[in-house]
Amino acid sequence: MFHRAELIQAIYDGLNEKDQARIHTNKQLENIEETDDGVTVTCADGSTYQGSIVLGADGVHSQTRKLSKYHSSPWTDHRLSCFGMFQNARL
Ligand SMILES: Cc1cc2nc3c(=O)[nH]c(=O)nc-3n(C[C@H](O)[C@H](O)[C@H](O)COP(=O)(O)OP(=O)(O)OC[C@H]3O[C@@H](n4cnc5c(N)ncnc54)[C@H](O)[C@@H]3O)c2cc1C
Repeated sequence: MFHRAELIQAIYDGLNEKDQARIHTNKQLENIEETDDGVTVTCADGSTYQGSIVLGADGVHSQTRKLSKYHSSPWTDHRLSCFGMFQNARL
């Protein structure tokens, strides 16, 4: 068993240097603009990025979802799951 942060680190470590350089942290999405040839996103620090599509993975209060013209509110489906972490030596 491992913590999700370790999984994210392992995925990042598996990328080559060129692709690692394409990962930008500490960015806050503020706006999405559809253009004739794709989409431009603007971050709170003023930086902009252009691409073909936007995939939002920014959680339950998703700004991506709020900015989408297909916006709908999240809902509760009443399913539950739990996890825990234990040191191997204590099992
Ligand atoms: C205390 C707690 C306990 C939990 N326990 C469990 C559990 O036992 N089992 C379980 O299955 N789930 C659990 N969950 C729920 C689980 O954490 C979420 O379901 C899961 O993290 C959702 O993943 P996600 O990738 O959609 O969003 P998140 O993990 O929330 O990731 C969203 C990311 O987007 C970033 N972000 C947000 N807004 C912006 C923006 N405007 N621009 C750029 N980035 C942005 C955030 O900084 C974050 O890094 C728990 C949650 C909490 C709070």
